[in-house]
Amino acid sequence: MDSGRFDVHSANGYGQAWRTKTDTGGAPVTTYGFLGLGIMGSAMAANLARSGFEVVVWNRTPEKAAPLVSLGARRGEIPREVVATCDITFAMLADPAAVEAVCAGPDGALAGVGSGHDFINMSTVDDITSCAISDAVVERGGRFLEAPVTGTKQPAEEGTLAILAAGDESLFEAAAPAFDVMGKTALYLGAVGNGARMKLVVNAIMSGVLTALCEGMALGLKSGLDGEQVLQVIDAGAFANPMFRAKGRLMLDRNYPTSFPLKHTQKDLRLAVELSERSGQPLHCIAAVNEIFKRARVTGHGDEDISAVFEAIR
Ligand code: NAP
Repeated sequence: MDSGRFDVHSANGYGQAWRTKTDTGGAPVTTYGFLGLGIMGSAMAANLARSGFEVVVWNRTPEKAAPLVSLGARRGEIPREVVATCDITFAMLADPAAVEAVCAGPDGALAGVGSGHDFINMSTVDDITSCAISDAVVERGGRFLEAPVTGTKQPAEEGTLAILAAGDESLFEAAAPAFDVMGKTALYLGAVGNGARMKLVVNAIMSGVLTALCEGMALGLKSGLDGEQVLQVIDAGAFANPMFRAKGRLMLDRNYPTSFPLKHTQKDLRLAVELSERSGQPLHCIAAVNEIFKRARVTGHGDEDISAVFEAIR
């Protein structure tokens, strides 16, 4: 980001510097809205606020906005107000049902959309939901982008997510300063739906290989191998990767502090299976992986980290 464009000053009453219109010599400055302050959204919105942008936040459970307010963000009362008062509003919500709940109704986000009040959904949803929201946003005169992310809690905190954007290309360009703060890379994938499908494909692969690690680890432990040595051997080979290193450690400790809630991974698998039905592409392994995740979810591991799927396997 070109911070030289802005003279930051502490004028917002929260003791935090914001970039203001006057700092640009009259050039318009973007105000960002942020709906959804869960694990990911709170970290992403915090990075925007810390970077000096003017940010308005909203969350269904309002208490979660407090840390953002202490960073200089303003709290919006309802989604409509956030969207209507901001140039670009991001949403980072649990699933399609949550996005629909936040978008719909007289107080919903869509009611605030219009020319100059654009909407970017960063939540992981299916392409059908995404296209429906896109149509509704465009109908109201706004611009729409879907921008799901890869990367989990720590990359969200560090601003090193990978952003998979699709939809209105001019909005992709307009949102670049925010994407720079939230991610290490932002990819433009074309028409709405491509970002949603890409995210589901990548997460299906990720869940599949994680499940293979669980089964391999369980087999190793039950047949008398040392789990630490299993991880060391993997790490020395061609498929060494940071996910196996981090999640393998959690499995051995049987302690699953949540970075990526297992219930959301299962939602992504469900959406991938639905996509396979519509696309006519059978998913022999991924459909079975979905069943394993469903079992983990219904046996009380839904709010734990994705790595707790080990408990449904061991
Ligand atoms: P999270 O911590 O569970 O947060 C979910 C957010 O959605 C919260 O703000 C929650 O509000 C809100 N929400 C849920 N149901 C709602 C409803 N009916 N109406 C209004 N708000 C609702 O989840 P997260 O980990 O931040 O994930 C958010 C999205 O990012 C998901 O789509 C997930 O698949 C995706 N994602 C997550 C990760 C990860 O590693 N965590 C990585 C990549 C992508 P409350 O606070 O009121 O419950």
